[in-house]
Amino acid sequence: MVLKNSMKRCLIIFGLFVFGLSANADFVELDTDVNMNNFWEKSGKDTQKILDIHSKILNTNKLNKHVSIVLYSASKTINAEAHYMDKSIYVYTGILPYIDNDDELAFLISHEIAHCLDFYDGPLKAFTMRLNPKEYETKADLIGIDMMVKAGYNPISAICAMNKISSESVWDNWIFYSHPKGSTRMVNMYKYIYKKYPEALNSDMVKNINYQNFVYSSQKELNAFNLKEKLQKNQRNENL
Ligand SMILES: [Zn+2]
Repeated sequence: MVLKNSMKRCLIIFGLFVFGLSANADFVELDTDVNMNNFWEKSGKDTQKILDIHSKILNTNKLNKHVSIVLYSASKTINAEAHYMDKSIYVYTGILPYIDNDDELAFLISHEIAHCLDFYDGPLKAFTMRLNPKEYETKADLIGIDMMVKAGYNPISAICAMNKISSESVWDNWIFYSHPKGSTRMVNMYKYIYKKYPEALNSDMVKNINYQNFVYSSQKELNAFNLKEKLQKNQRNENL
């Protein structure tokens, strides 16, 4: 009996020793990438990127309002939204596969920051936004472009991103749609960039396939706009 007990004890100690070795080996293996230089690196690179670009936009635009941001993974919806109650931005993980670079993400975040800044004007403003959602969507697109440019990003990427994710509702003027048609939003952004940031139209980003797709699909509207601008420019030169 005594011998049996001591044998059992030996087996348990041996088992614990072997388990301890293997557990220790796993721990060492998992930990080899961590050092003092990357200790504070977040586990999610996507979260890190969102936080970095968000802070860069807030700081370079010297915004005096607090706007927080979270990466929301509970839903795979392709969306990002601004919340009135807590002035927070929710970036849904479902939208990330459609974002190709920092510039596109910067537009997405800038657009939502623009909504949050409007929310800071109080409940009456929020109510007005509810009544005229399309007007405020356009405003957020254009203010968003201003903020992203100030932070050093290329505004052409706003069109590249929108060309992938914006929906094309049946009508622009219809109460059931809170957002203008995607094509209308992109043409409005193009006109804004043309007048305010013309150098962006000569950047390499205009070769982006999504921007090219926008140019093809909105050819009629762009040609009409460019022709009108050209005529107005000639008129101004004649009057000089
Ligand atoms: Zn919006």
